[in-house]
Parts: sequence; structure tokens; C-alpha cells
Amino acid sequence: MAGTTLKIALIGNPNTGKTSVFNHLTGLNQQVGNYPGITVERKTGTCRLPGDTKGLILDLPGTYSLNASSMDENVVIELLLNKTDKDYPDVAVVVTDVENLKRNLLLFTQIKDLEIPTVLVINMSDRMERKGITLDIPYLEEHLKSRIALVSSRKGTGIDHLKQLIVNYKGLSHEPCLNASSIDPDYFNRLRLAFPNQLLYKLWLVITQDVNFGLIDIKELQGTSFTKTKSELKRLQQKETIKRYQFINDVLKVGQTVDRSKANDLRARLDRVLTHQIFGYAIFFAILMLIFQSIFSWSSVPMDLIDESFAWLSAFTAENMPPGKLTNLITQGIIPGIGGVVIFIPQIAFLFLFISVLEETGYMSRVVFLMDKIMKRFGLSGKSVVPLISGTACAIPAIMAARNIENWRERLITILVTPFTTCSARLPVYTILISLVIPNRYVLGIFNLQGLTLMLLYLLGFGGAIISAWILNKILEVKHKSFFVAEMPNYKLPLLKNIALTVLEKTKAFVYGAGKIILALSVIIWFLGSHGPGTAFSNAEAIVTAQPESKTLDEGALNDKVAAYQLENSYIGIMGKGIEPIIRPLGYDWKIGIAIVSSFAAREVFVGTLATIYNIGSSAEDADGGEATIKQRMEAEVNPVTGEKIFNFATGASLLLFYAFAMQCISTLAITKKETNSWKWPIIQLVGMSAFAYVVSLIAYQLLK
Ligand code: GDP
Repeated sequence: MAGTTLKIALIGNPNTGKTSVFNHLTGLNQQVGNYPGITVERKTGTCRLPGDTKGLILDLPGTYSLNASSMDENVVIELLLNKTDKDYPDVAVVVTDVENLKRNLLLFTQIKDLEIPTVLVINMSDRMERKGITLDIPYLEEHLKSRIALVSSRKGTGIDHLKQLIVNYKGLSHEPCLNASSIDPDYFNRLRLAFPNQLLYKLWLVITQDVNFGLIDIKELQGTSFTKTKSELKRLQQKETIKRYQFINDVLKVGQTVDRSKANDLRARLDRVLTHQIFGYAIFFAILMLIFQSIFSWSSVPMDLIDESFAWLSAFTAENMPPGKLTNLITQGIIPGIGGVVIFIPQIAFLFLFISVLEETGYMSRVVFLMDKIMKRFGLSGKSVVPLISGTACAIPAIMAARNIENWRERLITILVTPFTTCSARLPVYTILISLVIPNRYVLGIFNLQGLTLMLLYLLGFGGAIISAWILNKILEVKHKSFFVAEMPNYKLPLLKNIALTVLEKTKAFVYGAGKIILALSVIIWFLGSHGPGTAFSNAEAIVTAQPESKTLDEGALNDKVAAYQLENSYIGIMGKGIEPIIRPLGYDWKIGIAIVSSFAAREVFVGTLATIYNIGSSAEDADGGEATIKQRMEAEVNPVTGEKIFNFATGASLLLFYAFAMQCISTLAITKKETNSWKWPIIQLVGMSAFAYVVSLIAYQLLK
């Protein structure tokens, strides 16, 4: 073989150590130039190979695949598709990084399919021990149909073996790993008939890339049965990628073992703690607690400010506009409606601030690893934990947080069940009902019965979410293919810019997406609560004033009574009364019916509505006093027919369960519509949750009464 010259192309993903291998092979014998006409660097060098052979090495630009998307990648493809190119290699050397084999092998299988004699370099072998990686080289060689050189360009090991493999290139297999033609056999068979002498994978690349190197005239395909639309080609290309990853996964499953428990670098040590059976969960829940504490306490300041500002704006507008329908619409409908959108911004911004820090540092992948197995059983993802727990603050940002879940099916189930989590708007409802029907007693000396009930309600919320996820997982048929390869990224410091952009983007998405719907629905609910048919509503003041028992009331009490009468005769009041036959089996009267209908906009409205109905002045000025009065009124309320207390234990328990499970929040429906981009899912959510709540409350009341 004396005096032979071999042309060798060095190919690989960026950062696999290709340059280092090149330097080892060529030493100082390097030349750097440009490819003709473009500013892509062209590096060549020579090298002595065994048996007096000379190697001419071309270091091709780093590329991730042969599905070219950049000029650098095009250089690689142009060369490999053109046998007449003076640089066309006798041997291709594909360099991979032992830590990223899965990703790196994609390009390798594509090169193999071009049926060029190929040597696979697995570089950075010096890191294997620290990372706990072992390779079955004979197995890999057999299944990848290539010889493998295990190299460490840092230590300089394996280079001689590589040289030996290159020299023996005639003995290297030309066989493809897997042929992309299997992705659409019919199509490829037709191509084969039309171009019998062409390599099918080459043809495929030419077609998908829409490039013409004079190998075949692509124009011949125009108007024939070989023409495919861009999107069809894209789909086929995706199919090809999936196939390749499946193939690589299968080979690596046997050929590579990664025992991270044997690894001992910093990352491995951190991983071992963060994904530990006990510490992992403890750390994760501690971090979550910290986050939600901060969200609660930090966002309460801007939220109060927003609340006050909008109340002030309403009052200011009311004073400065002529009284009338338009003024009412603006001051009682539109301004509070906008306020109802803006009020969510602090929580959304803070939640996403924390989430993007967790994502950016690489910690979130560890959480997924930790939680995935359990959550998958319920059709959820490891990442569903974040929405489910964020839901304790508010379902709106929580549902938006589900965007981090790659798999659509898991994301959808997460979105649908998240509103079961006990959000902060349920608290005022729970507080007043618990204080009404649960005795303030201690059991076993330390457990307060009321506190226990509250905790039970939180657990019920989580339970409801998990169980309905499990049910949805059984019945939902959402077609979704995912070839997402879960990889744990390295830890890194988060980039401030990325975080700021995420927060800004999520906030904007909420305001412009769900905000419109929330505003519209708020205005509708306002309209229904402040308008009514017939004279009972419009003449409320005159009617109430004329009642004999009103004579003794002072002005404030009279106003409250008018408000109560108006609410009773508004559209919402009529709806509340209308549903009485439906809710009576749950132990509710029409007053509770009105509170349920009006709190459909937002649960916390429940208490305020009851206050209005029982004509107690709104508790705005004096929250504690107001609440005490309304509690007394609720306690004193009796059924006119039976003479029994309305808010007895059975009704109270039934109401608590109703608010635990019912979808009483239009803002949540709006965000579900936004995130699923369809009305179908929010409607299913609404009907499903309401039906579930109804049945549970019904059973509870009937058993307890
Ligand atoms: P290229 O982008 O593929 O050309 O990769 P480089 O040759 O520039 O190497 C990328 C990084 O990997 C550099 O920081 C190298 O020092 C490092 N590197 C290259 N080969 C090895 C190796 O065998 N072992 C280790 N530990 N690091 C390597």
C-alpha cells in the first residue's frame, strides 16, 4: 500500500471534540482557508498513517444532522452527496462525545446511510469512569455496522487505533444502519424504479433539501408522482428522525450502561442528593413551600394596591360622570372587570419568575426525574407537580405553568384537573362555613377540629385532582406522538435575560389571551346582577320603603334592604331561585342558590352575596365586624317550613364539598380556553367538575341530614 493517499472527512456535532481529534491526527500540518465563495472556514491537514499511507484530512464544519438548516451544514451535505467532488472522502470519521451519544448518533446513522465507509470515534473516553458509563464496544460495532475507536483526545489515547481503522478502510462495511426509505416504502419504491442507479437516501436528501447538485435533475420530479408538498416532506422528515432515535435507543439500551450511582463528579453528587428517594422529595417540597410562601406574601402588596386603585378609579369615575346606564357600565362593569384581570398579574409574574429559575438552573429536570414515575401512573407528568401545587395560590398562573409539559396529553390532563387544587379564593368560603358548622373543639388534646377540617378540604382538592386525572387518563383519547428524549442538562447559572423574557411573555399571554374573556364575562355577570325584568327590580326602592317594617330603619339599613331586594329580583336572583328545585336535594335554599350563581364568576363572591341577601351592609369598611354579623345571620336562618336551621351540619358539609369540587371560576375557564385553544375543554371541565361536585354534595347531604 506504499505511497497511497487516503481522503478522510472528519464529521461530527459541535463540541464533540472534533477539532481536538483533528489536531491529534495532523499536528502542525494544517491549513486553514475558506470554501469557495462562502465564508465558512475550511480546515485541512495531512497525517501519517500506518503502512506508509498518507491521510488527507478535511475537518468539516460541526453539524447536528444532514437536514441542513445553515450554510455550515450545507457544506457537509454538498460534499457528501457529490461523488465527483475532489474532496469526496474515501473514509468518513464521525466524532461523538461519550456523554451525548444518543444525540450525536443521529448524524452518524445518516452518514452511514450514504453508504460511505465510516469509522465511529467515541471521544472523551476519559470521562466515562467519572460519569459511570460503560460501553459494550463489540455489540455497538455489530449493530451500528461500523468499527469504533474509543478515543480521549485530552489524554491522546485511542488515536493509534483510529489510524489503524482508517487504513483498513477497504474492510469497512458500506452497509446502511437503517434506511430512511422504510419511512414511506411505497414512495421510495417508485423513486427506485425511476432512478435505479441512485442511492435512495441520497435521493431523499436531495428531494427534502430542494437542492440540486447535478446528481439528479430535481425538475424531473416536478409534476410527476414524486412531487410532495413542503409539509408532506416535513412530516416524512420528522418520521425519519423518530425512526432514527428509536433505532439509536434500541442499540444503546444494550450497548451502553450509565450507572449514575458510580459517577462521582460534582453534577453526579448534586444529582444524587436532588433525586434521592427521601432528600429529593424533602428538598423539592421545601423549595415549593418557599416559593408559594413568597408568592403569597410578595404579591399581596401589589395585589392590594391594584385592588385599591381600581376601587378608587371606580369611585372617582362615578363622581365625575353624569349618573346613568353608561356610567354604571363603566364604574361597576368595565373598571372592576379590568381590575379582575390585572389583579392576577403579580401572582403570575412571581410564579414564572421562580419557575424559570428552576428551569434555567437545570433543577426542573431533576424534579421530573423524581416525580415522573408516580405522576405517569395518573396520566400526568413529573412537571405536573408545579401546576398542581401552584394551584393553591390560584389556578390561573398554575394552568399557564402547565406549558412546560412537552407531552400534549399530559399537559391537557394537568390543565383539566388543576382547578381541583384548593385555591386562595376558596378560603373565605371555607372559613365562614367551617366556623358555622364545625365546633371549635380539640380532639386528642392537640388537634383543632376546625383546622383539621380545613386540612381535610385541601387534601380533598389534591385527591380530586389525582383521581380525575386517573379517570381522564383512562377515557381520554388524545392522539399524540412524542419522541422527546428526556435528558438531564448540566447545572448552570440562570440568565437574567431569559428569566425576564419568560416572565414578560407569560404575563402578556395572560392579559391579552384570557384577559379579554374574563373582562367580557365579568361585564355579563355584572349586568345580570344589576338588572332585572319587570317592576320589582326597577321600583325596588319604592317597594321596600313602602313596606311597614321599613319605617323604623335608618338610612343605611334601608339601603341594605333595597340592595337585597334588588339582588333577589335581578336576573341572577331569578336564576338563583330558578335552580332551587335542583339544589334542594343538596340542602340549599334559594338564597344559597343566588350566592352560588353569582359566585360563579369568582368563588370569593359567595360571602359578599350572602351578606347582601341577608341585607347586611357590605363588609368593606369593617371586615371582621361584617363577617361576624353575617355569621350570626347565617346561624339564625331557619327553614320557614320545617323550622330547622338552614346552616346545619349536613348543609354546611354539603356546601363545603360543593365549593371544593365545583368549577366556580370564569377566569379559570377563560385560561383553559386560551391554553387549549378550544371551547371544548373548558366546557368539559365545567360540566365535569360541576356534576362531580353535585353528586358528592348530594350524597353527603342525604347521608348526614
Ligand atoms: P469541536 O467543537 O467538536 O471541534 O470540539 P473541540 O475540539 O473544540 O472540543 C470541545 C471541548 O471538549 C473543549 O473544551 C475540549 O477541551 C473538550 N475535549 C475535547 N476532547 C476531549 C476529551 O477527550 N476529553 C475531555 N475531557 N474533553 C475533551
